[in-house]
Amino acid sequence: MPEFTQIIYEQPEPGIARIWLNRPEARNAQDTALLYELNEAFDIAMGDDAVRVVILAAKGPHFSAGHDLREGSRQSGDFSRVGSWSSQDAAGSESYYCREKEIYEGFCLRWRDLAKPTIASVHGKAIAGGLMLIWPCDLVIASDDATFQDNTLFMGIPGVEYFAHVWELGIRKAKEFLMTGAPITAEEARDAGMVNRVVPRELLEQETLVLARQIAEKPAFGMKLAKQMINAAFSAQGFDNVQRNAFNAHHLAHTHYRLSQDGSMMDRDFLASFGKKSDKG
Ligand code: ZN
Repeated sequence: MPEFTQIIYEQPEPGIARIWLNRPEARNAQDTALLYELNEAFDIAMGDDAVRVVILAAKGPHFSAGHDLREGSRQSGDFSRVGSWSSQDAAGSESYYCREKEIYEGFCLRWRDLAKPTIASVHGKAIAGGLMLIWPCDLVIASDDATFQDNTLFMGIPGVEYFAHVWELGIRKAKEFLMTGAPITAEEARDAGMVNRVVPRELLEQETLVLARQIAEKPAFGMKLAKQMINAAFSAQGFDNVQRNAFNAHHLAHTHYRLSQDGSMMDRDFLASFGKKSDKG
């Protein structure tokens, strides 16, 4: 087992693996190390025949405050890349595009298609990039204090890098969610179909294990096939084409934001409105 510093990997019960995001002081903002550690932990769970379901939960008061923007466009450095988009020193937009293709879009698509079922167990705030840890999971259980928000339009960006908004919320609610940038509650998210169950905060850990047990007791191979079929329907509904377009639009907006005068003004407004730069993205 590797020595993780940003996450905790454990098996609370037979058949169940649980991964905790463990940067509570940074409200689980995602830096490069956290994302690679999370990916490695998923791989460990997938490779262990004793694990039949994986829970993703978070330490501290909030699930995740999004991407850790303090890193800027730094490349993946010492980490072994899992995708094929690679460019450490490219000029212009290329290196930033490749970085996000690897650690944001690449990881999300990979995690969505992990063979074994996954459950996101969410409390507190999940902002922007925080959604990208939740949406690729198969089931979502949230405590009644949970809120969900994509505030990227405040930076001129049309949504987070994994563009599943329409499938998670439906067209009308997805537009409101994205265009207003306002948070929605766990109940609103459940009513829209984004969350399976809402439970009291003090019961979240216990109720997540109850849900995990219901899955762990089923035949593992049949479970993998069922997941694959539902994801095939997701693809057949056009998600993959929308994702490709959305990722490129996202990067057009990144470039526009960086080049335009308005961009620097939005940056100041954004930082003033939302506090430390490391908290959002
Ligand atoms: Zn981005």
